[in-house]
Amino acid sequence: MSGDQPRNQPEDVNLQSADGRAERLSRLLGQDLVLAGPEVTRYCRDWHGDVTTGAVAVIRPRTTQDVSAAVRAVAELGLSLVPQGGNTGLVLGATPDDPAGQVVISLERMTAIRRLDADDFSAVVEAGAILSDFKDKVEAAGLYFPLSLGAQGSCRIGGNVSTNAGGINVLRYGMTRELVLGLEVVLPDGSVFNGLSTLRKDNRGLDLKQLFIGAEGTLGIITAVSVKLMPAPDQVATALVGLNALSDAITLYRRARRDCCDLMSAFEFMPPVAFTLAREAMPDLVMPIRGDYPAYVLMEISGSGLVDIEGLMQRFLEGVMEDGLVADGVVATSKAQARSLWLFREGMNEGQARRGPHLRTDVSVPLSKLPAFVEQAEAAVMERLPDCLCVSYGHVGDGNVHLNVLPPSGLSAEEIAARIYTAKSAINAVLYSFDGSISAEHGIGRLKKAEFLARLPDTQARLLAAIKQAVDPNLIMNPGCQLNYRTD
Ligand SMILES: Cc1cc2nc3c(=O)[nH]c(=O)nc-3n(C[C@H](O)[C@H](O)[C@H](O)COP(=O)(O)OP(=O)(O)OC[C@H]3O[C@@H](n4cnc5c(N)ncnc54)[C@H](O)[C@@H]3O)c2cc1C
Repeated sequence: MSGDQPRNQPEDVNLQSADGRAERLSRLLGQDLVLAGPEVTRYCRDWHGDVTTGAVAVIRPRTTQDVSAAVRAVAELGLSLVPQGGNTGLVLGATPDDPAGQVVISLERMTAIRRLDADDFSAVVEAGAILSDFKDKVEAAGLYFPLSLGAQGSCRIGGNVSTNAGGINVLRYGMTRELVLGLEVVLPDGSVFNGLSTLRKDNRGLDLKQLFIGAEGTLGIITAVSVKLMPAPDQVATALVGLNALSDAITLYRRARRDCCDLMSAFEFMPPVAFTLAREAMPDLVMPIRGDYPAYVLMEISGSGLVDIEGLMQRFLEGVMEDGLVADGVVATSKAQARSLWLFREGMNEGQARRGPHLRTDVSVPLSKLPAFVEQAEAAVMERLPDCLCVSYGHVGDGNVHLNVLPPSGLSAEEIAARIYTAKSAINAVLYSFDGSISAEHGIGRLKKAEFLARLPDTQARLLAAIKQAVDPNLIMNPGCQLNYRTD
């Protein structure tokens, strides 16, 4: 155990009060590890600032042993734990919902890279490392960790694994699950599941680490992760193209996969309003394309070694423009220009947040059905809520759409909530008719739990309940979130 040594003093605190329980935790674990009082609030607010709750305390371990001790102490007090990484998850998975009964455990102090092995193309990193810091260190060693998302300056590896994060490179490298080789996890009884292998092939029975990937902290606390690394792509070509219809994006995607020899690393679609929203957040951004088009695609091809990426992008775009599939386009000629193209994609998120509370979705449909889904779902929303703005964008190569609905300004909180409810119902009705998923990337958390459970088939519910019961029989881990529904 690190920090102040625990003082095993006789019990002289009132365990009925939250303050007393925080004090007891502090005595069991050492003051250095435990925050209480007003400092707790910043760990209890979601990323958008829409929801602020509270917790008995926040535990900030420095080592895996600290995490084990924390789990035991919390269990002894009859409390439960909400694990937290960067708190950028957008579904309230890391935001406690029982201030008197829950303790946040933040991994923010466990940030070390335990091993980076260039010959093995692998690394072992602690769960609290910020994704972009880890990527930078890997790149300094001439390698590449491909997970890339808008929140990478704040989200942490343990959170990425616990949500099975996606991001812009999924079409080439897969979701986080496909990048994980092994895990170290503190289980709800305080014991440690040590599975930090870097083996690529290991078929010795069930692959238990998979249980914790995407579990959103409901089965244990991930303390370290071993991951696959790739050769650093030393050539990257980025292009923004304007299309005459969203359906052309699917044709373009099919063609790009064929023509670009699977070297495509990103393929994002954006509506025209993306540029307005991005410039509301970042007024210095300069419009990269003249003319207005109904849909835009931001695509990236990348590679290392002997391939000619720039030439490939040039030839590809010439071909699709000649065939009339692309109306106009711009290819970044420098890293700075490529970065500014990506800023439109990132800035549009910020621009939406600035317009106030709105419906955010993260849905997926079969790739080929994406344009029809967007068209029908937007029409269903506009029919019911003509004063709202639909903003659909996302990772088209994965069939993943964020169909967000922004209410007009000047409404009361109740009017906004009513519009969000109506829009969500309209979108989900269309989504289910396409056999889609309500969560492509972000998980279930607390926000989507009711919808998740409402459509969970009995057999899956039984299996999930059995797993929960076997791993966390006392329901210590993240109650209120995802899996924690019934154990009977
Ligand atoms: C601007 C923006 C862009 C985003 N873009 C994407 C995107 O493109 N793709 C995507 O997939 N997501 C995206 N997200 C969502 C979010 O960044 C991801 O879900 C990310 O993986 C969450 O990581 P985190 O460290 O912030 O986790 P947190 O929000 O802290 O936690 C998420 C969940 O994991 C659990 N958890 C956290 N750490 C641990 C741990 N060590 N052990 C066990 N459980 C743990 C928490 O209890 C919670 O249930 C975006 C978010 C923002 C704000």
